Amino acid sequence: MTLIRTDELRARAAGPIASFDPASTPGYRGDKASAADDLAAVGDELSSLQEMLFANGRSGDDRSVLLVLQGMDTAGKGGIVRHVGGLLDPQGVSVTGFGKPTDEELAHDFLWRIRNALPKPGRIGVFDRSHYEDVLAVRVHSLAPESVWRPRFEQINNFEAELADSGVTIVKCLLTVSKAEQRSRLAERLDRPDKYWKYNPGDIDARAFWDDYLVAYQDVLDLTDTDVAPWHLIPADRKWFARLSVARLLLEALRSLDLSWPPADFDVAAERARLAALE
Ligand code: AMP
Ligand code: MG
Repeated sequence: MTLIRTDELRARAAGPIASFDPASTPGYRGDKASAADDLAAVGDELSSLQEMLFANGRSGDDRSVLLVLQGMDTAGKGGIVRHVGGLLDPQGVSVTGFGKPTDEELAHDFLWRIRNALPKPGRIGVFDRSHYEDVLAVRVHSLAPESVWRPRFEQINNFEAELADSGVTIVKCLLTVSKAEQRSRLAERLDRPDKYWKYNPGDIDARAFWDDYLVAYQDVLDLTDTDVAPWHLIPADRKWFARLSVARLLLEALRSLDLSWPPADFDVAAERARLAALE
């Protein structure tokens, strides 16, 4: 496997988001062709560790993994879910997309719908957007006053620390797409009937607030990149690089759990003897 150094993806190492290059491939010496092989290799190890995580979940281990995906429209969050999620056994994965809150969701605290979607023991949860929208979209489009969204940074840190304490390994990825690449992806959605379903006229409105989003994202990185819930800045103009990076980060999260197969909760020799005694 070509070496990929995920520590170079850590947001802290990347500097300000406004000067970050979404076409770069930090920590990776390969190219598109080698990335396909590397993704397959990562996928093999990912799926065996995932099975082990799942097996432990069945045996009373309540640990889980949560992958949080953020990024502007067209950054490729859906592609990550498809291509990285596709490396995993669907029985062990829960994917939740967070759109505009429903009336019921708005009647609760902003973390209510997030808590309801947390992965069960032994599972990998994937969030396509997340509680971060409540300090991003809400802030940029003035859906709530600053007195409401500002305290959320601290609430989010407390929430994520609480999750980490309860056995959730959190991996946060911000997919960054350049403005030029976003234009060409939006144009493609308008040119191709098979992509209309991905297009939302609101995407153009969000694009108009590009610089405000950058400011809001910078605060997210500055205020919520913690050791228990680290942020990674993923350049996403090259989809193959973004997919490999996120897969590799997920693999590292699973490796960090130091999993082994759960021991039998029955007498193996006795069960063998019972089996042998039967026809
Ligand atoms: P998509 O991910 O393309 O389906 O779009 C979902 C839309 O829902 C995006 O425009 C988000 O900004 C918006 N959204 C998600 N969560 C929230 C939230 N808590 N408040 C306001 N808008 C949100
Ligand atoms: Mg969209």
